[in-house]
Amino acid sequence: MLQVHPVPAFSDNYLWVIHNGRNAVAVDPGDASPVIDFLTAQNLTLSGILCTHHHADHVGGVEAMLDFLDLRGQIPVYGPAGEKIPARTMALKEGERVVLPGVELELNVLDVPGHTAGHIAYVGQDMLFCGDTLFACGCGRLFEGTAAQMTKSLAKLKELPGHTRVYCAHEYTMSNIRFAEAVEPDNADLKLRKAFCAAKRHRNQPTLPSTIALELATNPFLRWDSPAVVAAAEGRAGRALRANHEIFASIREWKNNF
Ligand code: ZN
Ligand code: FE
Repeated sequence: MLQVHPVPAFSDNYLWVIHNGRNAVAVDPGDASPVIDFLTAQNLTLSGILCTHHHADHVGGVEAMLDFLDLRGQIPVYGPAGEKIPARTMALKEGERVVLPGVELELNVLDVPGHTAGHIAYVGQDMLFCGDTLFACGCGRLFEGTAAQMTKSLAKLKELPGHTRVYCAHEYTMSNIRFAEAVEPDNADLKLRKAFCAAKRHRNQPTLPSTIALELATNPFLRWDSPAVVAAAEGRAGRALRANHEIFASIREWKNNF
């Protein structure tokens, strides 16, 4: 039975560790020591590393982990083909499939550019590791990509089964919900989500993983086909918006200045 454990790092990152009680794969280890501490405490052996994109808070701990555990060249380091990933051994792009050694998990790779130009996501066994592409009730900033690219990337994630668990890389949920309320003040699912997530944060628990179904119901960055979101985006832009990516761009721009 696989478990997915959030290791908190920096101010709001989660470094996810997938494990079966014996072997473990680290996802986006931006910092080595909290992951090593967790592996040591749980008596887990690192068998692989998955990276979604090149930002330091996602890959900054890769080399230190390999060196500290004396695993350089011994275990695979998966990462996007289009980006520079430290110690990467497997360069991946959409359509490729990985079978994680040790935990025997099969994951498919999706290209999800927008936050960065080569960002990838991993999907399998009803789990999605999406780095900084999709957040609970939000999405990543457009550092290297266009709104049209990000819309296309998010559209791929919208197609995943509703029960897919979404393992985002940051705890941004409550501030994202406050923005989502500004976009859709009458969204009842959003009100429920706010109460539920606020209670979790009050107990100092992660609000993650989310699910695709919950994101479809409450995340304004996935809701370009909801009349309320279209109206809010048009109100913000001061003109009629037709294409999905125009609606997305208006909401993204709004959030940047929220
Ligand atoms: Zn990032
Ligand atoms: Fe990040």
